[in-house]
Amino acid sequence: MAAKPHAVFPAPGHDHDRCASDALAHADAICAARGERLTPTRRAVLQALLASHQPLGAYELIDRLAETGGRPAPVTIYRALDFLREQGLVHRIESRNAFIACVRNHASGDPVVFLICEQCGAVGEAASAAVAATIKTASRTAGFTPKTPVIEISGICAHCKAA
Ligand SMILES: [Zn+2]
Ligand SMILES: [Zn+2]
Ligand SMILES: [Zn+2]
Repeated sequence: MAAKPHAVFPAPGHDHDRCASDALAHADAICAARGERLTPTRRAVLQALLASHQPLGAYELIDRLAETGGRPAPVTIYRALDFLREQGLVHRIESRNAFIACVRNHASGDPVVFLICEQCGAVGEAASAAVAATIKTASRTAGFTPKTPVIEISGICAHCKAA
């Protein structure tokens, strides 16, 4: 599925409902195609992460879910996160120990470059075939098989820089 090109950091006033509903529709389609079930818990976790472009820690996630229903057990949340990560619908931001919904619709094994804004906390996903190729070559030269092709870069997003 070809991802539509869009801004890595959507403008502050963008139609985020659209982002969130597109991502949910994509998640439904992926799960249906793979014969997986997007159970109510998995869906609720994904929806909570889709509330913004900022990552959430597992306990923040539990707090969000507790606002609309019963307080879920951490193990329930971790299981749902594991499932969503396996399906490539959610990524873990190692440096923040937090999770973010994927809005790029790429294959789950694709290398991802996360651009993390230190000011507003937004995380953008930059697709970079060139970076991916460099990592592959560097790894191969070292006789190394990369497992989690994820790069995290801290900095300031264009919107914060302009403000
Ligand atoms: Zn958005
Ligand atoms: Zn992604
Ligand atoms: Zn920012």
